[in-house]
Amino acid sequence: MIISVASGKGGTGKTLVATSLALTLKDRDKVQLLDCDVEEPDAHVFLKPVITRSEAVSIPVPKVDEDKCTYCGKCAEVCAYNAIAVFPKHVLIFPELCHGCGACSYLCPEKAISEEGKEIGVVERGNSDSVDFAHGRLAIGEAMATPLIRKVKEQARREGTVIIDVSPGTSCPVVEAVKDSDFCILVTEPTPFGLNDLVLAVETVRLLDIPCGVVLNRVGVGDGKVEEYCRKENIPILLTIPLDIEIAGLYSRGITLVEGMPQWRESFLGLFDKIGGIVNERISGTER
Ligand code: SF4
Ligand code: SF4
Repeated sequence: MIISVASGKGGTGKTLVATSLALTLKDRDKVQLLDCDVEEPDAHVFLKPVITRSEAVSIPVPKVDEDKCTYCGKCAEVCAYNAIAVFPKHVLIFPELCHGCGACSYLCPEKAISEEGKEIGVVERGNSDSVDFAHGRLAIGEAMATPLIRKVKEQARREGTVIIDVSPGTSCPVVEAVKDSDFCILVTEPTPFGLNDLVLAVETVRLLDIPCGVVLNRVGVGDGKVEEYCRKENIPILLTIPLDIEIAGLYSRGITLVEGMPQWRESFLGLFDKIGGIVNERISGTER
């Protein structure tokens, strides 16, 4: 089963949930944690994995042979990302905008375009206390997160439980990380900001047709509007975590919740069982 852990906004406790869920399940099943928040991966701070493999990830960007080029403009026309501009006597490539789709080189009538690799980051793989671990680190100044996320997801095992830590928000990297999940946990807090971003996140996962449920963190601040929204939208609140100085202290020291306060293991097992129930019910519903 693939469970992604996402949130409409940063700082809601997404990594706290992903890492504690992984550590709770490791005694029960094979568990893998993939940190797909490649712009700011931080699950390793909590899991402290021993990294055993590192692989640079590149995307192919075009290179034009101006001896062959007729400046027909076809490449600029087909590029959906405006990464090529053709002038009467020159072709300009903007590598930082290129998604490496290959359309320009494929469609160039003069075969004037070749491709060269541009490194966008690195995928690192390792192990932490029986949790198989992988994350991506996007190179500084690099904007192409989605090809790197794809590479991290290629590390997914076909057995046991795979937990994906997703970047915050609702943009392309989030869609890339969440798609193909069996379930998406949305972590939020009971504040107007939390509600606003939760609504956007729910719209995104519903478009992807992925069942979701909410983990409500820092309960005790804000109001009851998130619960009200979840009731109205029929979204289960799977777990609540209170605003607690001890939990905040653990987090600031890079200690997972279930290691610092083992009494939380039962709650995370319960969270997993609820998710399993929803996923199984959905599967049997589609089989009927
Ligand atoms: S499509 Fe090929 S020939 Fe036409 S402008 Fe681009 S590189 Fe030059
Ligand atoms: S590889 Fe794709 S994104 Fe990059 S310049 Fe060519 S058409 Fe544009």
